[in-house]
Amino acid sequence: MSNSTKYIFVTGGVTSSLGKGIISASLAALLQARGYTVTIQKLDPYINIDPGTLNPYEHGECFVTDDGAETDLDLGHYERFLNVPTSQANNVTTGKIYQSVIEKERRGEYLGKTVQVIPHITDEIKKRIQILGKKNEYDLVITEIGGTVGDIESLPYVEAVRQMMWEFENDCIVIHLTLIPYLSAAGELKTKPTQHSVKQLLELGVQPDILCCRTEHPLDLNIRKKIAKFCNVSINAVIESRDASTIYEVPMLMQNEELDKVVLEKLGLHSKMKPEMTKWEDFLNRVSNPKTTVKIGLIGKYVELKDSYKSISEAFIHAGAENECQVQIEWIHSEKLNEGNVKEKLSELDGILVAPGFGSRGISGKIEAVRYARENNVPFFGICLGMQCAVIEFARHVLGWSDAHTTEIAEDCSYPVISMMEEQKSISNLGGTMRLGAYKCQLKPDSKASKAYNTDKISERHRHRYEFNNIYLQEFEKAGMIATGKNPDTGLVEVIEIPAHPWFVAAQFHPEYKSTVAKPHPLFVAFVGAVISNKK
Ligand code: GLN
Repeated sequence: MSNSTKYIFVTGGVTSSLGKGIISASLAALLQARGYTVTIQKLDPYINIDPGTLNPYEHGECFVTDDGAETDLDLGHYERFLNVPTSQANNVTTGKIYQSVIEKERRGEYLGKTVQVIPHITDEIKKRIQILGKKNEYDLVITEIGGTVGDIESLPYVEAVRQMMWEFENDCIVIHLTLIPYLSAAGELKTKPTQHSVKQLLELGVQPDILCCRTEHPLDLNIRKKIAKFCNVSINAVIESRDASTIYEVPMLMQNEELDKVVLEKLGLHSKMKPEMTKWEDFLNRVSNPKTTVKIGLIGKYVELKDSYKSISEAFIHAGAENECQVQIEWIHSEKLNEGNVKEKLSELDGILVAPGFGSRGISGKIEAVRYARENNVPFFGICLGMQCAVIEFARHVLGWSDAHTTEIAEDCSYPVISMMEEQKSISNLGGTMRLGAYKCQLKPDSKASKAYNTDKISERHRHRYEFNNIYLQEFEKAGMIATGKNPDTGLVEVIEIPAHPWFVAAQFHPEYKSTVAKPHPLFVAFVGAVISNKK
């Protein structure tokens, strides 16, 4: 047995949205629970350098890592399941691959050769896959290939997988995630789309080792035999992947199907121990058996596509479990909120969260929601633009500065209470130029935030250009809105609170990115806790 890192590739067939990210994360969680160190990487076949410049309506939320990478939302699932931070290296796009190949070409590094998809692009892909393996930190690297096999843009990735399967014969396997549709008119599960999808992979020179079959109905022995026979896999490598009531159930379903065991066998690894899933099961139990329910309004402008707020909605599941409470999210479109209807639309809520965002669309609705929460003592949590709205609202209605705004929207307003950082002013490129990734924050003792964290030194992830304008801080504090968190190096305001309110806390950073099953985020836990007490 070699001591080298093992690579597990996850491809998808038949259709998109089968949940490759959740299957990868579930497998990783089971392997981790057996004592292995695992990381997961996503290869995205689109030409954007990263999703930072994408509208959330395209692929949902942009996730941010500690080292400031703007990434696909699947990285959020990886972190939530594994409780291990990801980094720049965990998300690769076609844009990044081409960018580095073209830069090398301009530097003359190809020595006058013609630069081609094979070998230059595929070599760059293989290099990016192995960066994580070569760190000597991980026993296993799971690489999820975005898109569906057969797509033109995923061809170089599948070719890179084919080459790696040859080069590292005993250290690589391929799991193909596919769909077994149920035809109700025939009353039957159909294997043909899976057969075709595996044939398509075979045409590209890749024989999958394991098939994960998404299905709405159980796969009986006959159907498993049929899939195994037509797709050249052993029968124990046909894994049923039934629809689950929550994504957090998938690791348990995969454990029942012995996916982790089959993977280890195929890689010639021994199970270090039985997967230790008791904490996970305990979490699942709490998710499934809540003692109370609360209704929290999420005020945002992308609510039609709930994936735009994925990390927030997952953080509420973690914080709900911690409080033995089911958090029912009411999705409220900020563009549809105004002074006239805010009471009617928000009066049934037990708590209010104003979401992050960019630009002017829907901002007046967000400000109205803050005002409602502040004036009616409804627990309030603001994140990033949500904090900026809380500051604007306080300036307008408590300090009486009716023309207060953020310079993102009103550059010439008389009270720019939120304004652009000096170093941002000269930047003209949009991609990767915000204040991104982890920064330290010092909390005031006795603040709600420091009580929630149970410490006064924290580090949280950022993704924004605008900041609280410190020239107004004294006046805010005199009137009752306190800066309870500041960057110790720059003095930038990170957290604001209104101590006289039952729970009014807002952060310039994004706490949602750091909430995991093993460590629900303290601010979400405290917010849900405050919502429950306030309801009583
Ligand atoms: N648009 C605001 C800024 O750039 C807030 C960003 C956010 O909510 N992520 O500062």
